[in-house]
Amino acid sequence: MPARLDRKTAPRVYRAYTGMSHQAILGGARLDRKTPIPQAACSDQEVLESLVFTALADCRQIVSRPFGVEQISLPADGGMPTVRLVDTVYAAKSTVSYANWLVQAVLPHAVDESGYSNGIANVRVACVTRQDLTLRFLGTDARLVFRGGPRTDWRRVLWEFQCQLESAGGEALWNWPRSFLTDSVRMKLHDQRPRSLAWLGSGLMRRAAIFHSASSSFYVNGWEGLDELKFEFDTLVGVSATHDRFVNRLIDPLWGLPLIIKERHCYCDDRRGYHCWFGLAHRDGGKRALQLRFTWTERRHLGDWRNMLKATGAQQSRLNEILPEHLCR
Ligand SMILES: [Zn+2]
Repeated sequence: MPARLDRKTAPRVYRAYTGMSHQAILGGARLDRKTPIPQAACSDQEVLESLVFTALADCRQIVSRPFGVEQISLPADGGMPTVRLVDTVYAAKSTVSYANWLVQAVLPHAVDESGYSNGIANVRVACVTRQDLTLRFLGTDARLVFRGGPRTDWRRVLWEFQCQLESAGGEALWNWPRSFLTDSVRMKLHDQRPRSLAWLGSGLMRRAAIFHSASSSFYVNGWEGLDELKFEFDTLVGVSATHDRFVNRLIDPLWGLPLIIKERHCYCDDRRGYHCWFGLAHRDGGKRALQLRFTWTERRHLGDWRNMLKATGAQQSRLNEILPEHLCR
């Protein structure tokens, strides 16, 4: 059943999609009744959000929230979104700063003397404070703020990353004044992604909290295929399937994205191979734009995932839902 927009349920639903209480963002202003989750104000903003979100979705780390996103604040006047991040990820037997991981995935940089570059080509740093890293999209008005966890100091993170790059013969490129998309040495930057999916990447980023609130998967990963976005959800065997809950949130006519289900393959009942998947397309037509895959992992392949998630700050109630202790023994 579609989620309605009434005074009683709206705050709860808004929180499920964005992780935020809407009063906190709007200062008590009313949500737009037609688009309670506002769209990006312009196409450049959409592209920036989509590029950044796709990079975060491919995090492939153990984090307490999918992609490291705690909350997203979306000003009703079309102003800059603020993405609030987790503090840490689990990697190589200990927790490390999520901000350190993020700058490597998002900010353009030359890795070493070979000139091999990484990051998102036309993203630049507009402003940095201890708490906030504001990104801009070169040659446009598009902006996005990353708010780090309480232990994050972006200025230190940027400084350390720059020192690390320079000691290896590389270079920080996030303040580069011009576009280098035509520079043959740096063509390996993520510059060739189709803009046709920007509405989807941006729309998903603006609803990133449903990957947490409407899913019981312990690991979610996303990436961009040739002409579609793909997400894989990994759930522990014995934890009930939540794929219908997630997809219903995603296609909700009021709060969700303009998507329809084109294919639904569910094997939960016969448990054959535990691999359910959905194909979704824009409701105005066109081919598949989004593929969602749901797989299940046996306990014996899980390792110490529960404790690793706990080390990143995952809440006990969340752990009990997605990796209950009696199923992890
Ligand atoms: Zn299923």
